[in-house]
Amino acid sequence: MPQKTKKDPRDTPAMRQHTRFKEQHPDCLLLFRMGDFYELFFEDAEIAHRVLGVTLTQRTAGVPMAGVPYHAVESYLRRLIQAGYRVAIADQVEDPSQAKGVVDRDVTRVVTPGTLTDEHLLDAGATNTLAAAAFVADNEVALAWAELSAGTLRTATLSPAAARDELARIRPAELLYCQTADGEPPQRVTGLLAGQPATLSPVASRVFRLDESRRILREHYRVGHLEGFGYADDAPDLAAAAAIVAYLRQTQRTTDDLPADGDAQPDDRALRHLRPPHRFEPAGHLVLDHTTLRALEVETTLRSNTAEGSLLEMMQSCTTAMGKRRLREWLCYPLADRAGIEQRQAVVALLLADTRLGRDIAEALDKLHDVPRIAARLGLGRATPRDLAALQRSTAVAAELAAATSSAPALAHLHQTLDAAAGPLTQLADTLAAAVVESPPAHLRDGGLIRDGHDKLLDEQRSLQRDSQQHLAAYQQKLAEQASVPSLKVGYNKVFGYYIELSAVQADKLDMEQDHFQGWARKQTLKNAERFITPELKDFESRVLGARERAVAREQELFAELCAAAAKQTDHLQALADAAADLDVLLCFADRARRRDYARPTLTDVPGLHAVAARHPVLDDRLADRLVPNDIALGPAARQAIGNDEPTASLALITGPNMAGKSTYIRTAALITLLAHTGSYVPAAEATVGLTDRVFTRVGAADELHTGQSTFMVEMTETARICHHASDRSLVILDEVGRGTSTLDGLALAWAIVEHLADRGCPTLFATHYHELTALADRHVAVGNLHVAVREWQGEIVFLHRVQPGSTDRSYGVHVARLAGVPQSVIARADSLLAELAVSHDASALTPEIATDASPPRPPALAANDLPLFDRAPEHPAIQQLRAINLDRLSPLEAFDLIRQIKRQIEKSID
Ligand code: ADP
Ligand code: MG
Repeated sequence: MPQKTKKDPRDTPAMRQHTRFKEQHPDCLLLFRMGDFYELFFEDAEIAHRVLGVTLTQRTAGVPMAGVPYHAVESYLRRLIQAGYRVAIADQVEDPSQAKGVVDRDVTRVVTPGTLTDEHLLDAGATNTLAAAAFVADNEVALAWAELSAGTLRTATLSPAAARDELARIRPAELLYCQTADGEPPQRVTGLLAGQPATLSPVASRVFRLDESRRILREHYRVGHLEGFGYADDAPDLAAAAAIVAYLRQTQRTTDDLPADGDAQPDDRALRHLRPPHRFEPAGHLVLDHTTLRALEVETTLRSNTAEGSLLEMMQSCTTAMGKRRLREWLCYPLADRAGIEQRQAVVALLLADTRLGRDIAEALDKLHDVPRIAARLGLGRATPRDLAALQRSTAVAAELAAATSSAPALAHLHQTLDAAAGPLTQLADTLAAAVVESPPAHLRDGGLIRDGHDKLLDEQRSLQRDSQQHLAAYQQKLAEQASVPSLKVGYNKVFGYYIELSAVQADKLDMEQDHFQGWARKQTLKNAERFITPELKDFESRVLGARERAVAREQELFAELCAAAAKQTDHLQALADAAADLDVLLCFADRARRRDYARPTLTDVPGLHAVAARHPVLDDRLADRLVPNDIALGPAARQAIGNDEPTASLALITGPNMAGKSTYIRTAALITLLAHTGSYVPAAEATVGLTDRVFTRVGAADELHTGQSTFMVEMTETARICHHASDRSLVILDEVGRGTSTLDGLALAWAIVEHLADRGCPTLFATHYHELTALADRHVAVGNLHVAVREWQGEIVFLHRVQPGSTDRSYGVHVARLAGVPQSVIARADSLLAELAVSHDASALTPEIATDASPPRPPALAANDLPLFDRAPEHPAIQQLRAINLDRLSPLEAFDLIRQIKRQIEKSID
């Protein structure tokens, strides 16, 4: 569109629109529709150029511009969102051909990383969460998080540390914060993300004010007060919930304030699928902090930080999208209550016993589409024709699932939900089936959604289009007979429209007074012919010419009606999705239990863990028969399981050479505990699991160095947290803690930590290379020793990966170095040094073993092979004197005298 060049390139009507939209959405990239492109201007253009690689041009001098073709906009959008940008889309909201002056435009969509609902912008198996966090006091954070595409909204008021842990589980794509004066997110809020990549978006600070946040929520949910949702009126977390609702209403410009476009339809309430806020109770779930989730590789592995090789990926066999997301939820939020866990177990047991039932349910699930996300799009007035077809197939499944779950008591709770939803949903399925074709087009621009025979008006329009030729032929015949002129023709011409044509001669002969010529009007006179029009033909003309548009318009009307009818069933749709997701995960559990021979764990109220032939679930999947199973016995739960009178250590120290399988063993214990709390069976021959409130996992800084994140300070901060918060119901997993500092320091710390945890009775597994710690087993009843067996064979070591009672006396570091290919001369030297050190350091409990893999002795350069490395330091005379004392013969006075002497000697030697 040519623009007159003016002094200020922004001062054209289109650019003024652009400026206005940019002011309304300052934090968004603006995609501005012009012709067949969405254009970006100024800094936006530069960002698009950088992120999307599209060409940077100039609209006029000084106005950088970059564009993406409109038909491919979704794929570009996806990339911008993945890069963390928010995008506002300004569309033409009037037909350009009808526009007087500049085409009217408006922002029709704001797409942000945390508010995605479009199918092609979302990963089916992953959740997409929007969170809001605000400090209400120095040590109190109001947190809310919503999954727009599922319609859930949860809140909690937590300590900053707990909020950080929760955010690690939530993994928000976008985090809302209370707008600050300088526009930057406050550091303590970003700190809550602990390095997670989330887009930070500001929300006006007034939204967080008590009165305003209440008003927003009351208005949105159309309630008089919020107590009905279980909140006190001054609950701080409601501010965060209000921020989410306000942000959603602002970004999800729903049909309330949106000009009708082909795919949108009005609904009585925007965002109706967003359920009321629900308070998250941390105590209802096994607490897994962010370190533990990482160390146990629940969602991603430590090494590659990808899903591959994670617990979630290994377990995943759900068939529905909502099931896949539910499995993630269950693994990250295991239950803490026995009844809930056992209810799930009972279903798994049933599905294992009754394979026919499992098959029936699986078959039904197979037909389900992503119902909650369709419900979300309905709630946002953004459903597509294909969504309706998918909904038709999915809602028909409700009755099937209700029937499949009807007979077993273990499924009663799910059956109840499904049964209540089945009636209305079957009705909806019938309504849709009667109206909608099986595979409709992606959008409604050309119609094609509604079946023939469903709607009289639409059928007429369609048959007018389709049958116009026959209609005309019939009409022509009728006229020809009436006029007794066989050569009478009915024709069409673009300029004049429909006409009846007679030759000039015949026209002359006509007796226009006759009845059947009433209404005939002369339209056009040609050289040899005369053209007429009749009211009937005129009417036909306007009907045929408008038929196409009217057919499409009628389809849009019907589509809107169907969407509204479907949206009315939002609650039932969500109920169906919820129950189906549960069933899908329970089938997944049963499937895994069957394929890898898992056992149903017995839950007990006493702390600890007992497992026979336990296997690490991921290694079990990968190594199968090559994995060596091990037994685990920890705390009173083990004693109960064994039926033994002997107390079982609640803290086990695991020693053994590097690569023996220590880390694997202790993680096996943690993962079995975690899985047991999800209701899943566990990879063991038998298991008894004490109900646990938290799993703590700390991996020594040195072991985590490859991630480049961990320092000894972090290690100790987290260890401090464990020491403070671990109860006798927590499972503590410590892997080489203390390794991040000097050997003596580390050993002393490890020693003290073990004593502390043993005193508290926390079920603990501590893998350590400090053999000196094993002496603790003799001093503390709660401490026991385990070691991972290796066999020496022809000077090499063979890893047996078998965990056995008792301790080892060697760390085999030198052997491992040999296996790793350290030169033979170095190995030989290290061996001789080791022998020497073993002699010079006799077993005082706190003497470090030097030949650990963490701190291998460095042979001095050019050292003659047999020179001793350390001269034995001469003993201080005071020590020699003390050694010589015979306590049995010493009187108190003599003792005092001796102390005075020794003190004097020491003071002398210090000077
Ligand atoms: P450590 O912590 O003692 O150094 P890891 O637990 O990291 O040893 O185990 C090292 C490797 O040994 C693992 O990657 C795995 O391949 C193998 N491994 C560990 N435990 C077993 C087992 N029980 N059966 C078979 N292989 C195992
Ligand atoms: Mg290890």
